[in-house]
Amino acid sequence: TPTLAGLDASKLTITLADPTARAVPDEATACTGTETICTDHMVTATWKYTTGWSAPELKPLGPISLHPTASVLHYATECFEGLKAYRGHDGRLRLFRPDLNAKRMLMSTLRISLPGFDPAELEKLILALMAVDGAKWLPPSRPGSFLYLRPAVIGTQAQLGVQAPKEALLFITASFMPRMDAPAGGMKLHTNPEDMVRAWVGGFGYAKVGANYGPSLLATNEARERGFGQILWLYGPEGYCTEAGASNFFVVWRTREGALQMITAPLDDKLILDGVTRRSVVELARERLQGEVEVVERKYTIDELVEADKEGRVVEAFAAGTAFFICPVSQIRHRDYDIHIPMVKGESGQYTAKIKGWMHDIMYGNEQHPWGIVV
Ligand code: PMP
Repeated sequence: TPTLAGLDASKLTITLADPTARAVPDEATACTGTETICTDHMVTATWKYTTGWSAPELKPLGPISLHPTASVLHYATECFEGLKAYRGHDGRLRLFRPDLNAKRMLMSTLRISLPGFDPAELEKLILALMAVDGAKWLPPSRPGSFLYLRPAVIGTQAQLGVQAPKEALLFITASFMPRMDAPAGGMKLHTNPEDMVRAWVGGFGYAKVGANYGPSLLATNEARERGFGQILWLYGPEGYCTEAGASNFFVVWRTREGALQMITAPLDDKLILDGVTRRSVVELARERLQGEVEVVERKYTIDELVEADKEGRVVEAFAAGTAFFICPVSQIRHRDYDIHIPMVKGESGQYTAKIKGWMHDIMYGNEQHPWGIVV
């Protein structure tokens, strides 16, 4: 049997776009249109079951072509990642823990029977795209700005049989994304309708596969019509709190004994995504709030939260993820009950603010930290 080629970033070929063909829009303009504005280049690599991975290409951004019977278009053989590149206040360009995104993408890829790869090679390809587009699209003259990186793998085999695709495409784009971490008055959450769940035990809620996102839009739209921003996804008859939209969810509350706890859903029953932001919040809070706030990863229900609210024990709540970063939550509606979470001077509580500040400083190079990977 022939040996299949592994994904190999050292084989990357580079074809540059004309750098004068497109000007970089300012951040505000770039995020107001109906189309995502991408940078000049993308990275692609194809895979075939007979030969393995092709040499990856870095080339001008453009459409990809698929046969109408391609696997991804019928059976959701797709997974993706989301991470940001940050232009630091020290002028350097950084990614935040990209190794975790690369490993998570491998996990998601295998969950939908797409081909594996060495995550370290994917990380190198992401860095290569930023090495080429970073200077123009995140200029050192704009410290504090970021781009959103979107690696994805899709099944491309043009065959309608329900089977693991024998051909696949990996691609990476970089684009603008609006800042969503400080909505006026905080993020408002509505619990999901009783007949809609995001994930279930034995399902694939822990994988970043496209199939988790399309079906969640209906509930989100209903909540938006009622003036709420995101769904607080509950699970099971017990009503376990899991995630807030496409972010992980944290509550800071006081126990009846008076201890401060920062609580978030656990990873072990595979209902939630192992968020890079979530993991970083947990690790930083354990390290830097030691003795002050206990970080707890355990199942907890909406009834516990409602009860804590009735007893005046809810201190803060926030969503945590790449898109919304650390976003204070000001209200949660569950059926007819409203939890109003204190917003100090219209802004987040002190622990939310502290965590957000620490993370920001690592991302933008105010603190030199091993999580900040310089491009
Ligand atoms: N949960 C879901 C369902 C998500 O899609 C995301 C975004 N990737 C997150 C949580 C947050 O993960 P991260 O911090 O890695 O962005």
